[in-house]
Amino acid sequence: MKINIVGQGLAGSILGYMLKEYYHCQVHVFNNEKLSTSSAVAAGIYNPITGKRMAKTWFADTIFPFMFQFYSSIESKFNIKILHQTPVFKPFADVAEQNFWMGKSVEDNYKNDIEIVQNLEVVAQNIDKNFGGMIIKNSGRLDINLFLEIIKSYFIHQNCYFITEKLPHFDDNEIVIYCEGAYAATNPLWSWLPWQCNKGEIIDIALDASPMNFIINSAVFMMPISNDRYRVGATYHQDDLTAQPSQKGIEELKNKLESFLIKPYQIKSVQSGIRPAVQGRRPFLGQHPTQKNTYIFNGFGSKAVSMAPYFANHFAQYLLHNQPLLPDVQLNRTVQW
Ligand SMILES: Cc1cc2nc3c(=O)[nH]c(=O)nc-3n(C[C@H](O)[C@H](O)[C@H](O)COP(=O)(O)OP(=O)(O)OC[C@H]3O[C@@H](n4cnc5c(N)ncnc54)[C@H](O)[C@@H]3O)c2cc1C
Repeated sequence: MKINIVGQGLAGSILGYMLKEYYHCQVHVFNNEKLSTSSAVAAGIYNPITGKRMAKTWFADTIFPFMFQFYSSIESKFNIKILHQTPVFKPFADVAEQNFWMGKSVEDNYKNDIEIVQNLEVVAQNIDKNFGGMIIKNSGRLDINLFLEIIKSYFIHQNCYFITEKLPHFDDNEIVIYCEGAYAATNPLWSWLPWQCNKGEIIDIALDASPMNFIINSAVFMMPISNDRYRVGATYHQDDLTAQPSQKGIEELKNKLESFLIKPYQIKSVQSGIRPAVQGRRPFLGQHPTQKNTYIFNGFGSKAVSMAPYFANHFAQYLLHNQPLLPDVQLNRTVQW
């Protein structure tokens, strides 16, 4: 059975690689390299405690072990380093927040992931917070661009990577899996799903300060990427889905950064991308309601790094071994047909 994958962002790369390498399928990957790729601008952060309320992320205890195992296997096979384990430091805003997390830190659901600390010296020199904070363990950064490059080389080496601006005609006996990221929202095959795509801007800065080996999670995140360089982000805007970074977005990032960073910095680059986010914040996996050889693997919003490996395997089990999909990720969870 021939399986065609449309798109080589994180979703298409991970699914295509797994189907080929783990399940020995005949896979062809079609990618339009003229389109922008959300994965290429993403920060690559994985973190089990997320969101405004800093809650344990959905399904974390299942998807995180799978994620570590998957990316580690890529590191071993290709002899590269893509997973950079880096703890997140979340400074507390006030005594109430400090007390709240003191209580949470002993609960079973959190005790392996967080540790309460007084201000870390190296962080305290650079940021304006006095109430201590917590360290979130099991977090870090995937070097997404290196991962995408390696997987693309793998596909090219296997003669199964095709650069295209117009998809070929697929025969009825071939499977087609669309991994188009935010472009799916304008593809008539999938535009009826409840997309809530949003634009994210991100800046890279140079900072003259002693290195911080933490991802600071405050008004925005500030993540070390090399020596004096940090990545700062990100914005979330649904009203402007143009490809270019906006001045408004850059100003927002600067203001939020300066609300906690007390050292001077220089902006070195600015990037933006469109997150393939959906209503309900769960990915969309499954078969088109009328076109039986047509599938989607998408909707990873702002968490493709941690969710895509587990759900790629889940999708493969569904496609190849008739295993049921989790109700949470099925297409008909919000739209009935
Ligand atoms: C600023 C920002 C920061 C982010 N930070 C993080 C983070 O820290 N951690 C995290 O997990 N996620 C993060 N994300 C989200 C992450 O980028 C997305 O979840 C992820 O990239 C989605 O991957 P994807 O493969 O579905 O889509 P994409 O990466 O957009 O890839 C889609 C691919 O499909 C191709 N394509 C589309 N249509 C066609 C077609 N018809 N024919 C051929 N090719 C086609 C495109 O060219 C593209 O290569 C961030 C996003 C942004 C914008």
